Amino acid sequence: MIDTKKRIVVLLGPPGAGKGTQAEFIKERFHIPHISTGEILREHIDKGTPLGIEADKFMHKGDLVPDDLVFDMLKERVQHKDCTHGALFDGFPRNVDQAEMFFQMDYVSSNAKVSAILIDIPDDEVIKRLSNRRYCPNCKSIYNLIHKVPQKKAGTAFLCDNCGTELEIRDDDKVETIKNRLNVFHNAAGPLIDYFIRKNVLHKVNGMISLEEVSRQIAKILE
Ligand code: AMP
Repeated sequence: MIDTKKRIVVLLGPPGAGKGTQAEFIKERFHIPHISTGEILREHIDKGTPLGIEADKFMHKGDLVPDDLVFDMLKERVQHKDCTHGALFDGFPRNVDQAEMFFQMDYVSSNAKVSAILIDIPDDEVIKRLSNRRYCPNCKSIYNLIHKVPQKKAGTAFLCDNCGTELEIRDDDKVETIKNRLNVFHNAAGPLIDYFIRKNVLHKVNGMISLEEVSRQIAKILE
């Protein structure tokens, strides 16, 4: 029998765990769109929309944007045609209230197989990874000065390999903000993880192994 269920994947883990990289892998391998709430919010900020102006008040400090704003944005996003056969959520849900909202969405509660994948890494590794992260404000490519070094430079500035734009440090990748983001993550993570365990959909992967090995383990979980 052909399985017609939507494939819904939730990626969990602290900032810098490699969720973005693994999301790209899952998107290609399983042909589902990558929905990053952080990325959509940053697009709203760049465009100066009312949602962006409101969200920025929270985001630049590393705090969570209010649940109702994020939820409305997401309900709209899953109506797009590319979500017909499933979707990968990166950065949502972030707390138990959002997880409850998530499971109540028609999109998730009807005819879907949900898998939550937790990529686990320690805090000192998070700080090391994020403070070395660089971001292309134009094409959104992500680099890391330790393991994904951009090839081109202009003076001391690094340039995007893809489009040549000068790379930036995201406001929320500054060390003080990273520490706040980690606090925010740890406060919410325990109950959120327990929630997914109770739903019987949680899978844990060690994020300290190579990117390829993390991908291999994720593929095994989802196949
Ligand atoms: P991320 O790119 O997932 O690390 O998200 C960057 C920032 O966007 C977070 O620090 C929050 O301020 C905001 N954000 C992203 N997703 C959510 C969410 N599900 N709920 C509330 N705020 C969010």
